[in-house]
Amino acid sequence: MSNVAALYRLQELELDILERAKRIKAINAQLEDDAALREAEAENEELQAALEAAEARVRDMELEIATALDKRQSAETRLYSGEVINPKELQDMQMEVEALTRRKSVLDDELLKLSSERDGCRAKAEDAAARYGEAREEHERESKALLDEKETLKASVNQLLAQRKSSVAAIPQQAFQTYNSMRTAKSNRPVAVLRDKACTICGIEQNYIVITAINRGDDLVNCQNCGRILIRI
Ligand SMILES: [Zn+2]
Repeated sequence: MSNVAALYRLQELELDILERAKRIKAINAQLEDDAALREAEAENEELQAALEAAEARVRDMELEIATALDKRQSAETRLYSGEVINPKELQDMQMEVEALTRRKSVLDDELLKLSSERDGCRAKAEDAAARYGEAREEHERESKALLDEKETLKASVNQLLAQRKSSVAAIPQQAFQTYNSMRTAKSNRPVAVLRDKACTICGIEQNYIVITAINRGDDLVNCQNCGRILIRI
């Protein structure tokens, strides 16, 4: 293998490694991004809290109704006990019983309203809990798929790194140093393929001297425009 061919193969290997490393980085970012899950969790918590509050309001109202009933019961017991004989007092007691009956009726209506609100809250809370459950499952599925992909990528990167090491070892030091010193400036592509007479990276057609040198098989011929090492494949 000529030096330029060995460098080109090395470049392909390195680009492959970089591509995979980039994907690993993107996977790491995706693994950290749990915005959808957090949103479903927050919605679930909010609606569960709303349901608890609605249930508490129903319980409070039931208690208030029970208290009103107790009071009416005691008032009626006294009213019909025969112990009270004063007409004024009897009339007051009669009015109290009636007032408590009216109050219970108002409270009953209120309880109906609160119960219906609670039922609405319950339906919403159940939906939110189901959505949160689905979001969790989805997140777990996605995370697992991403972790699997990452493991596969890491294993292949390790393999490619080993191949890179033996590729570098087979390249004469001078040629490798030339390639290596150009790597950053040439965006990881110090070697460019020559197609027809043009450099495929910068697109510039090469002059007679360059073409002749390549045809002759000279070692490391540079693009007259971008300076990359040219290879004809
Ligand atoms: Zn070029």
